[in-house]
Amino acid sequence: NTFAEIDLGNALNENIRRCKYVKPTPVQRHAIPISIGGRDLMACAQTGSGKTAAFCFPIISGIMRGPPAQRPRGARMVYPLALILSPTRELSVQINEEARKFAYQTGVRVVVAYGGAPINQQLRDLERGVDILVATPGRLIRKIVEQMDMSPRGVRQTMLFSATFPKEIQTLASDFLSNYIFLAV
Ligand code: AMP
Repeated sequence: NTFAEIDLGNALNENIRRCKYVKPTPVQRHAIPISIGGRDLMACAQTGSGKTAAFCFPIISGIMRGPPAQRPRGARMVYPLALILSPTRELSVQINEEARKFAYQTGVRVVVAYGGAPINQQLRDLERGVDILVATPGRLIRKIVEQMDMSPRGVRQTMLFSATFPKEIQTLASDFLSNYIFLAV
């Protein structure tokens, strides 16, 4: 019932310890094993309940254990293995900061990209390689998610985290998730 007992990989466990997280919050306790098990997930949990770590830990742990990302022939950048889409720039910035702390010295590279800011620095970051891309998709959300289906790894795993479950989120869930587990804490 502590993070030390969940084997997320040494470097990540060390970062969790540094963040002084000892016990998983309820959403983390349920969502992390579901995610590691490979299932799609719709998780409802209120603001401040630890949703960021609930999706970051299994993503980082999975990338640490997986084969290294391939740079496609002729491509300037390594394509992300995971995409974290968030509705606002502020939330993307916040998730990026948290994810970087969790990914410290794991070899997992986290990059943030959003509109309304100079693109050059963001492109330079991407060209250095990216495993997890945190982005604010604006109206492109559907096209971006559909592109992820063409990943050379094949199957897309999708997790949707929200404080509430209104009509729009229900529609996103039924469009993007397949055979998913519904978690409400
Ligand atoms: P979030 O809901 O992801 O915005 O997290 C809310 C706050 O709780 C943030 O300040 C996190 O750093 C903190 N937090 C998340 N998970 C834990 C945990 N298991 N133990 C202690 N603090 C946590």
